[in-house]
Formats: sequence, C-alpha cells, structure tokens
Amino acid sequence: MPTNSTLNHSLGRLKEQGVRITPQREIILDYLITHHNHPSVDTIREGIESKLPNLSIATIYNTLKLLVDKGLVIELPNNDGGIRYDFFGFPHYHAICENCGKIIDIFDDEYPDIVNHVRETTKAKTGFLITGTQLEVSGICPDCQRKLHLDSGSKQ
Ligand code: ZN
Ligand code: MN
Repeated sequence: MPTNSTLNHSLGRLKEQGVRITPQREIILDYLITHHNHPSVDTIREGIESKLPNLSIATIYNTLKLLVDKGLVIELPNNDGGIRYDFFGFPHYHAICENCGKIIDIFDDEYPDIVNHVRETTKAKTGFLITGTQLEVSGICPDCQRKLHLDSGSKQ
C-alpha cells in the first residue's frame, strides 16, 4: 500500500466532498495513514508535535470528527474507556485482545461482501438508513495466551 498515493487519493476524496484541505487536516490524515497503531488523540498529538507544535487538542478532535464524518477514519472504543482512531481507506476488521487491549487489523478479500450482506439484511429487517458498519472479533492474543497459560489447548 503506497502511502503517498493513498494520501493523495484520500485528499481527493475530501475535496470531492467539499472539504477544504488545511495543513492540519493533511498532517493528521497523513499520520493516520502511516501509523497502524490505532492511536488515541494524545498519541496523535505527540506524533505530529514536531510538524504542528501549537495545535490544540480541540482542533485535533474537530479534525478527527470531520475525517470520521467523511468516512476516511473510524473510531474504535478502547477497553481503557478512551477512543482510538484508525485510517479506513482500506476496509478491514479488527481482532481485539480482551486482556491487553491490542487491536489487530485483518484484511480479507471477502470482508466487503460480508459487510454488504450485513448492511442489506439490516436495512431489509429494520428500515435503518445505515451510516456505519464495524466488525470486531474479541479474544485473547497469542502473547496473552502464553502469559495466562491458555496456549496448551487446541486452537478454536
Ligand atoms: Zn493480549
Ligand atoms: Mn485498523
């Protein structure tokens, strides 16, 4: 996934939706495209501090909200009670460790079809106007399985 063309493509998607490209919007989007650590707002602020030293946390929140509204970024609730952010230019789902909170990206060619099926079924059964879909799989990561001595049994 070439990140520079990903950034340009994503900026193009914002422009198509009538969003003005400001330096902070571009830098925050670039940070999320190039970091796959599902950062919190504080982590994002630390990560872009050298480029935008005076940016307020409120501006970062507002920029993230805009990117979420425009469908480029998703919010993930974290088990510490905070929110993590994730670039979503390439649809994927998440495996989340219930013990350590680690969030792992899973890219699967069949994922878009699965999501479409779930959205169409939901629309048919409820009449909802669908605004978002996220799939999460909870479990215990291999590191925690070892720490908790859960790795001796067979995999499920
Ligand atoms: Zn874990
Ligand atoms: Mn992700």
